[in-house]
Amino acid sequence: MRDDRSDLVVIGAGIAGLIAANRAAELGLRCTVLERGEGQYVCNTRLTGGMFHICMKNIARPSDESFRSILQAVPDLPSHDLARAVAENGERMVRWLRRQGVRLIKAGPDEAYWWVLAPPRTMQIGMPWKGRAGDVMMHTLEEGLIRRGGAIVRGAHAEALCMTGGVCTGVEAVVQDARRTFQANAVVIADGGFQSNLSMLRHYITPKPESLFQRCAPGGNGDGIRMAQALGAKTVGMSSFYGHVLNRAVFSNPALWPYPIMDRVVAAGIVVDAHGVRFMDEGLGGVYQANQIAKMADPLSAVAIFDAEIWQQAGRQSKLSAPNPALIKRGGVLWQATDLPSLARLAGLPPDALCSTIEAYNAAVRSQATAELSPARSPTKFKPAVIATQPFFAAPL
Ligand SMILES: Cc1cc2nc3c(=O)[nH]c(=O)nc-3n(C[C@H](O)[C@H](O)[C@H](O)COP(=O)(O)OP(=O)(O)OC[C@H]3O[C@@H](n4cnc5c(N)ncnc54)[C@H](O)[C@@H]3O)c2cc1C
Repeated sequence: MRDDRSDLVVIGAGIAGLIAANRAAELGLRCTVLERGEGQYVCNTRLTGGMFHICMKNIARPSDESFRSILQAVPDLPSHDLARAVAENGERMVRWLRRQGVRLIKAGPDEAYWWVLAPPRTMQIGMPWKGRAGDVMMHTLEEGLIRRGGAIVRGAHAEALCMTGGVCTGVEAVVQDARRTFQANAVVIADGGFQSNLSMLRHYITPKPESLFQRCAPGGNGDGIRMAQALGAKTVGMSSFYGHVLNRAVFSNPALWPYPIMDRVVAAGIVVDAHGVRFMDEGLGGVYQANQIAKMADPLSAVAIFDAEIWQQAGRQSKLSAPNPALIKRGGVLWQATDLPSLARLAGLPPDALCSTIEAYNAAVRSQATAELSPARSPTKFKPAVIATQPFFAAPL
C-alpha cells in the first residue's frame, strides 16, 4: 500500500479498471487501483460467461458494421459516441488482452463464441468461477499491473473525488476504517454500476426494484456515478440495463441463476401480464425483454407462454443458457396442459383473455402480419412461432 502521488488512480478492479490501469501503466504512467473487495473478491468480471462480441456478432468485424449492429439493436441509443467507441475499439481490446497473456479461444461455430475467455465457464450449479474465464483474466491483468510498477489497494472503499481549484486531484477512500487521500493527476471511475442500489434502481429503472433478481455480483452501489454527479457530470442511458429473463422461482432457488435464461423461449413465443395480454415486442431479444418486464407496475406478474414445438426448438438453443431441460432438472416452475384454458388456470391467468391473445397472435404469425399486432412483434431478429402444438406451457418470469 502507498499513498504517494500517482499519475492515475482507478476506482474498481474489475475488467474495466484493470484494463485502464494496465494500459496506462504500459504507456508509462504510475497507477494505483482502489478496490473495495478483499482477497479474491467477487465482482461481475469473475462471474462472466467470458464472451466478447458486439450484438452477438464477431467483435473483429469492420467497425462500421459493428456500429450499425449496435444502432439496430438499440434504436433509442442514448449516445452514438459510446457506440462508436465500442465499435472502433472492440477488436483492438481483445487483441491487446491476448498480448497481455489472456487466453481467448474460439468456443463454437456461432460468431458470438469466437472470442471466449479460457478456460471457459461450466454450467454446473453454483457456477464455480475460480480458475476459469474472468478469474484467470483478472489474475493475469493484476500480475501485469504489478510488473509495470502499479499497485492495487484492496479493502479501499472510494467515497469522494478530491477537487482543487476546479480540477480533480485524487480520491478519498476508507481503508481499514481510516480515511485516506490518494492524490492523482487523473481518476478513472470503473466501479461496475448501480445494480445493487435499490434507491437508484427505483429512480432510474423500475418501480419495484425488489422484484428484480440480482443476476450478478453484489458490489455495484453506484458510488462512481454519484461521485461524478456531485461534480456536475452528465449521465446518459440510465434507464436501461444489461440483464436476462429468469424463471420466477429463482428467488427461492439459487440453482436457477445465472442460467438457464428464458430469453429464447420468450423470443419464439409470447409473454403476457396478469390480464393475459401481451405488453412488449418479444422479438427484440432477452435484454430488451428483461428491461420491459422491469418497467411493469408489477414485474413479478409476467408469464411466458409457448408450446411443445417452441420448447423443443428454441428451448434447447444456445450453448450455456438453454432452459430445456435445465429448468426442470433444477426445480424451476413450468406449468403444462393439453388445452389453453387449463394452462391459464394453472398460471392464474384469465382463460378467455389468454385464449384471445393467443388466437390474435397465431393469426398474425400465420399471415406474416405481426407488425400489426399491438404491441407489434418484430420477425427479423427472432422468428415468431405459432403456439399450437400440445402440450402448452407457461412459465412465471
Ligand atoms: C453471470 C454473468 C455473465 C456475464 N456474461 C458476459 C459475457 O459473456 N460477455 C460480456 O461481455 N459480459 C458478460 N457479463 C457482463 C460483464 O461481466 C460485466 O459487464 C463486466 O464484468 C463489468 O466489469 P466492470 O469492471 O465494469 O465491473 P465489475 O467487474 O463489477 O468490477 C467493479 C469493481 O469495482 C469495485 N467497487 C465498487 N464500488 C467501489 C468503490 N466505491 N470503491 C472501490 N471499489 C469499488 C467492486 O468491488 C468491483 O470489484 C456477464 C455478467 C454476469 C453477472
